Amino acid sequence: MYPVMLNIKNQDCLVVGGGAVALRKVEGLLCDGAIVTVVSPEPDPHLKELAGKGEIVIEKREYVSGEAADYSLVFATTDDREVNREVYRDASGAGVWVNVADDPELCTFHLPSRLKRGSFQLAIASAGEAPFVVRRMRQMLERRFGEEWTAWIDAASRFRNCVREAGIDASVQEKCFDRFFSETVDQDNVRARVPTAEEQAQWLSATDRSRGVRPGALPDGPGAPTYGIETIPDDTRTGFVSLVGAGPGDPGLMTLKGMRRIMNADAVVYDRLAATSLPCDLSPGVGLFPVGKTAGHHPVPQEEINALLVRLGKEGKKVVRLKGGDPYVFGRGGEEAEALADAGIRFEVVPCATAAVAVTAYAGIPVTHRNEVVRVTMVTAHESSKENGPQVRWDLIAADPHACLLGYMGVTSLPQVTEKLLEAGMKPDTPAALIERGTTSAQKVVISSIGDLHEEGMRQGIKPPALFAVGPVVRHSEMLDWFSTRSLSGERIVALSPAEWIREDLEYFGAEVVEVTTPVTPAARIVLSALPLTGCIVRSTEEVEALDEEADTAGWGPEVIAWCRGPETAARAGKKGWRNIVELDSESFGENLIASMIAGRNS
Ligand code: SAH
Repeated sequence: MYPVMLNIKNQDCLVVGGGAVALRKVEGLLCDGAIVTVVSPEPDPHLKELAGKGEIVIEKREYVSGEAADYSLVFATTDDREVNREVYRDASGAGVWVNVADDPELCTFHLPSRLKRGSFQLAIASAGEAPFVVRRMRQMLERRFGEEWTAWIDAASRFRNCVREAGIDASVQEKCFDRFFSETVDQDNVRARVPTAEEQAQWLSATDRSRGVRPGALPDGPGAPTYGIETIPDDTRTGFVSLVGAGPGDPGLMTLKGMRRIMNADAVVYDRLAATSLPCDLSPGVGLFPVGKTAGHHPVPQEEINALLVRLGKEGKKVVRLKGGDPYVFGRGGEEAEALADAGIRFEVVPCATAAVAVTAYAGIPVTHRNEVVRVTMVTAHESSKENGPQVRWDLIAADPHACLLGYMGVTSLPQVTEKLLEAGMKPDTPAALIERGTTSAQKVVISSIGDLHEEGMRQGIKPPALFAVGPVVRHSEMLDWFSTRSLSGERIVALSPAEWIREDLEYFGAEVVEVTTPVTPAARIVLSALPLTGCIVRSTEEVEALDEEADTAGWGPEVIAWCRGPETAARAGKKGWRNIVELDSESFGENLIASMIAGRNS
């Protein structure tokens, strides 16, 4: 099989047949600019819709002998083998490429499975021998090659034009291209980023100085040459800050957009509460700035965070400001956005589930319930505990029996809140919950009544960050606690990438999986130490070696169980001084792992 990329723009293409397969072919053809005619007595409604919009022509009739010869490319997708065969004969006889769906013998070409990121495409094929591999391979590559490659290929194409226009000698051009590639592609982790205009200008000027530039191509005067840069839109020269919500802790709750922004960032400024959501395969080249606030003290004052964001933005960087929950809910995101707006730095907000709705859901509490709770109040008692701060109208909340109150910064302020609510007439037996580190493997939930919640929380050792929920909906938690009741809930297990073979299953059973690449990245170290680990999966002596270097991170206590595949792996772990080693048979490792984990907890 000989691969080619066919330019079908404005070419007449024929699809015989009008079912689902035809529709897929038509969509693919339209995507690449073909002029499409469908011949089918009974076309699929979606095809009719396309015809209605003028995107394709439908001939509502049977195939007419000989007509395939008049097209550039032909597909036959009918379920009548005779018709398909006729189409094949007509087309191939006239030298026209033809493909009959699911009939390799009647094809002069096959369509590869493809992964498209803008003008960058990967085609995957197995000459029809193992299509199951092709599909899985595409899914795998789809996860590897994120959307950032679309912007990257655009940038590469623009860069190529700049280099060409600069009139640089061909051998030096290659140097520019090498530089572009090596600085924008993380080859180990298959990640790409779009370079700033400044970087590109620098790469161009660095090679100018070396050799081979035609003298006339260099602009006169001091300073770096700026040729070519004019073709890059002006606003890409300044930075861009994304205020991204990381969700309340479970890394899976972060939005796709937020994750894309992180993978494409030059710098990530993150809060302590957001640390679990950092992607473990984040390129080590990305600047990581912890500005975490722990309860009671602010290690980096808000003004300094604002100034840092402005500085990074002014340096032309793509910055992600990663904040726990939603950036604008009690997170001072508004102030950060104002600082950026003031400084003229472009920014965006990528919202995410705030603790009040996500943490409660994981504790089995629906924040509204038909006929029961029709008002939701999110509140922080922080300012109202100061005399001159804005005061919360506790009286209104206390007087509404159909409300749910969700309190942020709940541990420290709970006694005052309780007092205010009871004073304002709330019944002391109103159901109430206190939830620490909700949505994570460290989630702890206390269910009580508003009258007793503080005391009960203290007794059970609840610490910040915690959220409280007050209202009749709290009662549902008994029935709706789906999270802590799973067989492996509370487990936080590290596995080396690729961990697809086990990841999903572990998650279904309630374990949190931290999948790290080797070598372990700085971001992965932050994630590993953000919460205590309970286990690690090692399949080879190399994996033991790789993880041993991390075994002194904060999250790695002596109680971590090492699930080892086979005796050699277990022996190596023992040699390294790992304490809790469970050796499982190498043959059936995958099948037995989860069962052993569950059995281990029950024993
Ligand atoms: N922007 C965040 C809130 C920041 S204020 C959001 O939208 O969720 C920090 C407070 O949020 C904490 O003191 C706690 O009350 C609450 N919080 C955040 N994450 C939490 C979690 N995983 N579990 C419980 N409370 C959480």
